[in-house]
Amino acid sequence: MKSLTELYRIGTGPSSSHTMGVERAAETMKALYPAARFTVTLFGSLALTGEGHGTDRVLRRVLGEGSEIVFDRTTTGLPHPNTMHFVAREGAREVGRHTAFSVGGGRVVFEGEDLCDTPEVYPLNCFEEIKAYVTEQEMTLAEYVFSVEPSIEEYLREVWAQMKRTVKAGLSAKEEELPGGLHVLRKARHLFRSKHIGETAEIEENRMVCAYAFAVAEENAAGGTVVTAPTCGACGVLPAVLYYMQKKHKYSDDAIVRALATAGLVGNLIKTNASISGAECGCQAEIGSACSMAAAGLAQLFDMEIEQIEYAAEVAMEHHLGLTCDPVKGLVQIPCIERNAVAAMRAINAVNIANFLTYTRKVSLDTIIQTMYETGRDLLGRYRETSEGGLAKLYREQ
Ligand code: SF4
Repeated sequence: MKSLTELYRIGTGPSSSHTMGVERAAETMKALYPAARFTVTLFGSLALTGEGHGTDRVLRRVLGEGSEIVFDRTTTGLPHPNTMHFVAREGAREVGRHTAFSVGGGRVVFEGEDLCDTPEVYPLNCFEEIKAYVTEQEMTLAEYVFSVEPSIEEYLREVWAQMKRTVKAGLSAKEEELPGGLHVLRKARHLFRSKHIGETAEIEENRMVCAYAFAVAEENAAGGTVVTAPTCGACGVLPAVLYYMQKKHKYSDDAIVRALATAGLVGNLIKTNASISGAECGCQAEIGSACSMAAAGLAQLFDMEIEQIEYAAEVAMEHHLGLTCDPVKGLVQIPCIERNAVAAMRAINAVNIANFLTYTRKVSLDTIIQTMYETGRDLLGRYRETSEGGLAKLYREQ
């Protein structure tokens, strides 16, 4: 598995695969051919939802306004649903052509070339192995992360600082329309302030967790700075849960960093053994993964045992299986923003279940990760970030 710096990326929304990953690929091309003009052909999900996600804007910003961007919405049988093809020319002469895949969470792989990939740093690649190792070493999952990546603690502090900044930015933003023409109003501030007379502690908890998740997801939709956790589309789940718990229980930033390490380990396992890409496996791979990470992180924050952490992460993923990706107009707004809030509440529920039922469980985290991957591969293409099916097809403005 790769470093957690590859999982938690600080960058600009609204999409890790359609903006952050594409930006990385374009920067690699620009560094290889600084004097060239480019033609970029986008295929699959990048072509079908690229305009809504702002993919063309990112490419022109990095490669130059004169770049030609082609949306090929008809080619099928692609090696990856997020495929892009670059042709570099100097004058009339072609100087290079490369194919790249935006594989989720901002990561890019070039076909047959090692142009911008990073090394593997974790020697163990499944939860069973990691559990056996940390049990033998009498260490926590967070300690395992810090032992493999000694410098990651400092990076996770930056990640947490940015997550808090994004929550605050989203809460303080005016209740105005998000960009893109769907006329979706920001609601985080309204949620945050809507305390009702006689509101129970339970309802208040749900409202606040939702407010924080909306705040981050709305910042993402508006093109603000977010942390992929594990993607931009699902970036509100983990910070909402941790921010709420820090406010409520006064957890230190050190404790939150340990929670981020454990959550990151789970996200890394999903990314390595399955997928965190909506274009590859549907929303279960994005929101489901975020919920699983948040459940693991929260269980770590509560100092729960490793079996309970595993069960919380497993439950959180299991009940997102089959979740489709069908963003209306290709924007990361409907259903994405609400989905972040629902998943944040679900992560807390998963931890509650793990608190009571861990020793009755039947399904391992590794099994559910594999199940999510196979389910995602079986999903029809129109439910994998193409905006050709589901809500994206049937949506009519009220
Ligand atoms: S529906 Fe889910 S996977 Fe698809 S863009 Fe929205 S958050 Fe991402």
